[in-house]
Amino acid sequence: MTDIDPFHDQFTDIREGVRALCAEFPPEYHRKIDEARGYPEAFVEALTRAGWMAALIPEEYGGSGLGLAEASVIMEEINRAGGNSGACHGQMYNMNTLVRHGSEEQRRRYLPKLATGELRLQSMGVTEPTTGTDTTSLKTTAVRKGDRYVINGQKVWISRVQHSDLMILLARTTPLDQVKKKSEGLSIFLVDIKAAMAKGMTVRPILNMVNHETNELFFDDLEIPAENLIGEEGQGFKYILTGLNAERVLIAAECIGDGFWFTDKVVDYTKNRMVFGRPIGQNQGVQFPIAEAYVEIAAANLMRYEACRKFDAGLPCGAEANMSKYLAAKASWEAANACIQFHGGFGFACEYDVERKFRETRLYQVAPISTNLILSYVAEHILGLPRSF
Ligand SMILES: Cc1cc2nc3c(=O)[nH]c(=O)nc-3n(C[C@H](O)[C@H](O)[C@H](O)COP(=O)(O)OP(=O)(O)OC[C@H]3O[C@@H](n4cnc5c(N)ncnc54)[C@H](O)[C@@H]3O)c2cc1C
Repeated sequence: MTDIDPFHDQFTDIREGVRALCAEFPPEYHRKIDEARGYPEAFVEALTRAGWMAALIPEEYGGSGLGLAEASVIMEEINRAGGNSGACHGQMYNMNTLVRHGSEEQRRRYLPKLATGELRLQSMGVTEPTTGTDTTSLKTTAVRKGDRYVINGQKVWISRVQHSDLMILLARTTPLDQVKKKSEGLSIFLVDIKAAMAKGMTVRPILNMVNHETNELFFDDLEIPAENLIGEEGQGFKYILTGLNAERVLIAAECIGDGFWFTDKVVDYTKNRMVFGRPIGQNQGVQFPIAEAYVEIAAANLMRYEACRKFDAGLPCGAEANMSKYLAAKASWEAANACIQFHGGFGFACEYDVERKFRETRLYQVAPISTNLILSYVAEHILGLPRSF
C-alpha cells in the first residue's frame, strides 16, 4: 500500500527507526496495557534506550540535538503505529522548558540523566480545580523562606506522576493584587516527586475515560530548594507558554498520526467488507466522510510543519502551534468517527483497537487546551476582536 502521508519521504531515517521499534510493540501490546490500565513501561524504556526520548536534548548534554519537527515525527509515528504517545510525550516538551530556560547548572545536573533515562521528567503541574483554563488566576503559592520555597495549594489532572521523577510546577510567587499584569508573578519550579510525596505533597489518582494516568495533587507546606526555581522568579508564565507551544505541536503531530492510523484502518476495512454484494467502500456515502477527514488531516499536517519551522527557528509560533493543534485534533476526531462508523459493530470490539484509539484521540479536543480556547486566542490575539476575558 502506498503511504497516504504526503510527507512520508521526509525524515525517513526517523520514521523507519521509530516504525521498527514500534513493530516490536504491536497494537495488541497497547490494547492489553489499556485493558489493564497499566503503563507501557517496556515500550517507554525501549524508546528511551534507543535515544528517541532525548531527541530535543542538545548533544553536549547527551541528547541528539534535534528540532521540534523531528521530535514531532517521533510522536506521530508512535500514534500511527497504534500506540499512544500520551504515555511519554511529557518528557519531550518538559525537557524543552529546561533546555530553553534552565540555568547551566540545572542543565548539567539533569539533562544527561534525562537523556539516559536515569531520570524522567514526565509531569507538568499547571491546571487547578477552581480556576481551570484561567491559568493566571491559579491559587497555588510558592513563598520564599531563606534557601527554600514553601508551596501550598492544589493541582488537578496532572499526568504521569507515578512514572516520573521530576515535575515542572507553576505557582504564584507574587500575589495577584501586587502585579501589573495577571501573567506576571508566576514562577516555575522543578519538583522532586518522591521527596515531595514523602513530605508535603499528596497524590490522588483520577480514573478517566482513557488510560492516561492523571492525578489530583495537594500541597501542604511542601518545601523545595530555592535552586529548583527555573529561570527568573515571576517570569514562569512566559516560560510555560514556550513549553505549551511545543506541547501543542507535538500533540498535533500525534493527532495526525492517529488520523493516518484511522484512515488506513477504515480504508482497508471498507475495501474488504462486503454488504449487499459489494465492498461498502464502493458507496459514496461511505467514501466521502473518509475522504473529507483525510483532506483535513493533510491540511493540519501543513500547519504542523509550519509551526515546527517557526519554533525551531526561534520565531514566535503561538498562532501556528494553536492552529495546528486545533486542526489536527478536529481532523483526527473526524477520522475516528468515520472509522468507528464504517466498522459497524466491529468498531466497538476491543480487538479492533478502533474504540481505544477513538477514546484516546477524543481527549485532544479538551486537553491540553480546549478547542474553544484556541478559537478565542485566534479571535482576540490574531484577529484583534475585543477581549472576552
Ligand atoms: C487526561 C487529561 C490529562 C491532563 N493532563 C494535564 C497535565 O499533565 N497537566 C496539567 O496541568 N493539566 C492537565 N490536564 C488538564 C487540561 O489541560 C484541562 O482539562 C484543560 O485545559 C481544560 O481545563 P478545565 O478542565 O479546567 O476546563 P474549564 O476551564 O473548566 O473549561 C470547561 C469547558 O468550558 C469551555 N470554556 C471555558 N472558558 C471558556 C470561554 N471563556 N469561552 C468559551 N469556552 C470556554 C472550555 O472550552 C471547556 O470545554 C489534563 C486533562 C485531562 C483530561
